[in-house]
Formats: sequence, C-alpha cells, structure tokens
Amino acid sequence: MRVVQKYGGTSVGSFDRIKSVADRVKALVDKGDEVVVVVSAMSGMTNKLIGMAKEVSDEPSERELDVLVSTGEQQSIALLTIALHSIGVPAVSVTGRQAGVVTKGTNTRARIEDIDPSYMNEILGSGKVVVAAGFQGTNEKGEIQTLGRGGSDLSAIALASAVNADICQILTDVNGVYTADPRVVKNAKKMEEISYEELLELASVGTKVMQSRSVEFAKKFGVPFEVRSSLNNESGTLVIEEKPNMEAVVIRGVSIERNQARVTVTGIPDEPGWSGRILKALGESEVNIDMIVSNIAHDGKARHSFTMSSDDLGRAQAALKPILSNLTDGGVETEAGIAKLSCVGIGMRSHSGVAATMFEALGDAEINIGMISTSEIKISVTVEENHIEKAAQVVHDAFGLGE
Ligand code: ADP
Ligand code: ASP
Ligand code: MG
Repeated sequence: MRVVQKYGGTSVGSFDRIKSVADRVKALVDKGDEVVVVVSAMSGMTNKLIGMAKEVSDEPSERELDVLVSTGEQQSIALLTIALHSIGVPAVSVTGRQAGVVTKGTNTRARIEDIDPSYMNEILGSGKVVVAAGFQGTNEKGEIQTLGRGGSDLSAIALASAVNADICQILTDVNGVYTADPRVVKNAKKMEEISYEELLELASVGTKVMQSRSVEFAKKFGVPFEVRSSLNNESGTLVIEEKPNMEAVVIRGVSIERNQARVTVTGIPDEPGWSGRILKALGESEVNIDMIVSNIAHDGKARHSFTMSSDDLGRAQAALKPILSNLTDGGVETEAGIAKLSCVGIGMRSHSGVAATMFEALGDAEINIGMISTSEIKISVTVEENHIEKAAQVVHDAFGLGE
C-alpha cells in the first residue's frame, strides 16, 4: 500500500510527540507500506512566527511573511526525519519545492497549480520514507508561497493525488469528524463516514478539523481520505462519495464560527445598481462577504446587511466610505461579537421542517436569531457570540445527534 499520512500541529507539538509519530511511521514501514508523511509546524509555531514579523513592522509584506512562516514546517520535517533515522527508518525530508508543489496566486493564501512528484517517487522507489513540508510550495518565479491557515491538509490531499496513494490519512488530536466540535458539545458523536459534500459544507462554515479547500480538492479529484487520531489506533471517519441511504440522516452535523461581524448600509435609494456597487467595493478590498440580507425601511430607502469576519470590519468600513459620500442620508451600522451556527446534511434535500426544528430549539432556549441563510444542504443563523455554545448544544440535541 502507498499511504500518505498528515500530522497536524498538536500531533508534532513536542519532541515526545515527534518521536511517537516516528514510531507510528515505523509501524507502517515494517508492514511493507510506502509512506509519505506530511507535517505541519509544531503547534503555536506559525502564530509565533507571524508575531515575530509584527514585532518589526505593523504591515509585513506577504511575500516575506511566507518566507518566514514556511520555516515552521521546515523545522518539523527535519526533526521528524532525524527521529526516524534514530530508530533505523530510512527517510528523506523535502520542502514544498522539492516535493514539486507549484503554487499560484496571492502570497499567504496561494493555491496549488500543479505537482511534479518525480523526486518523491524516486525517494519512495529507493525504499525510503518521504517527509514533506505541508502548507508550502513555490510559484513559477521560485518564490515561497503558503496555502492559507490549516493548509497542510491541502498539501496532504494534493500530494496523495500526485503520488497515487491508496489512502490519505489526516491524523489529528481528535478521533475523527464529530457531529459538532467535541470541545464545545460534550455529547458530540464521532461519525463513521461522511460525504465529501457534507464535510465541505461543514468545513466552509467553521468546522476546522479539515481546511475547506482541501476537502474541495479531494472531492474534485476523488482522493479517498480519512480523519483519525494521532494519539490512538481507533478507527476514524471515512470521507466518501455520497451513497443512496445517506439522505436518511437529516442533519449530519452542526458547526459554529465565531468572531463574525455585521455591517448594515442604510439610506440606499431603492433603485437598480446599488447592491452591485456596494458588493464590488467590498470585493475589491478583499472583504469576504458571507450572509446578505436586504430590505426596505419605513422611509422607502433600502438597507443592505452583510456578515463577515470581524477581522475584515476595518477594511469594509474604509471600502464603503466613498459610496456613502454619494448618498444624502446614507449610513453604516456595525455590530461585532456575533457568531454563526449552521446545520448541515444532504438529508435536507428530501426532508422538510429542518429550519422549524432549529429555530424552535433556539427559541425555547431564549436565544435570539439575527440573520438567516440557507442552501440546499445547510441552514445558518447568526446569534450573539456569547450564546453560541449553548445554541450549538440545543440544536445538536434537537436533532438527536448525540444519541
Ligand atoms: P491539526 O493541528 O491536526 O490540523 P486542527 O486544530 O486544525 O488540528 O483541527 C482539529 C480540531 O478541530 C479539534 O481539536 C476540534 O476541536 C476541532 N473541531 C471543530 N469541529 C469539529 C468536528 N465537527 N469534529 C472534530 N473536530 C472538530
Ligand atoms: N502551520 C500552518 C497553520 O498553522 C498550516 C497547518 O497547520 O496546516 O496554519
Ligand atoms: Mg488543521
């Protein structure tokens, strides 16, 4: 078997953890498997490196940030390879560039354009383990680029596809994908399996166990993968193509996303073109808009509300300024300290009443709902951030997910 295993930050978070990862890799090698290990930086390291850049500048260049933060993964590959050597396992570390990862796009959030696996195949062919740095690659100019926070998941999935692995295992600090974050909802249950589509939707609304772009890549290229623990040998969660009986489960899981903000633009003339102008300005300032609600106030003027990450609030306000200067009685209202709660499940396609159950559970818990948005397999609402944990628990219980 050819196996790609990815170990996240906590899993390589100390020298003892690195040694136990080496033992786990040795067990596979002893079994006769060919192994590519993808590692993240030791937990806390990426944040520490970003903090170092901020010590010397308020606005470090993204190109140089990538040069700096990519060193976190470089420490991990060398340390794990040294640990493997010390227990007699032949292994070679490779940076993103040596692994053949070609990236494109903006620094700090580049995408993978192509992978040339020839050097990795050569190492595997000589009977050695490949230890590859996650989260990084180089663009056509040879500049180091990183793949966005949590991007080692994407590295692992893409490398698994490039070396034609039989399985890609994402090893982390929980036993798999749960019906909710097990650190928030105590009776959350581990799923045996989940469809790509459901995990993608969960990941894109805050379930950080997998980076959403990595799930998108896996779905697109049919890369089979599982999420399991790096701390034990229990079976994890298998991520698979949708099966006919899967719609029988109405809700697969609930997800929370904190640190959200709402911006409302008021006093907009009720005429065509304004929504486009506002969204264009926000888009050009790289503000990621999530939910959108528009309505008409008593004065006959339109109001547009958007949610976004609180981190984007300043940029959004700056982007809206020139638009407001064109409006006689326009204004901007902002509200931080909100969070998003989402229910996801492909069963929603064939079951009705899901929103009613969710809203009723929140109402019974006296939690006020702000904005609402839905897609074919998801319902999201905003609530006050300090109610989000209780909200997740009552909605999880209302769908019987802990049973
Ligand atoms: P790694 O460092 O291995 O990449 P992450 O911290 O990125 O690990 O992701 C694992 C964490 O994701 C868990 O510790 C858990 O708290 C969180 N998480 C959030 N939602 C879920 C969920 N539905 N199932 C499992 N873990 C979840
Ligand atoms: N080290 C990077 C991060 O902290 C990538 C990863 O862990 O997947 O975001
Ligand atoms: Mg992660």
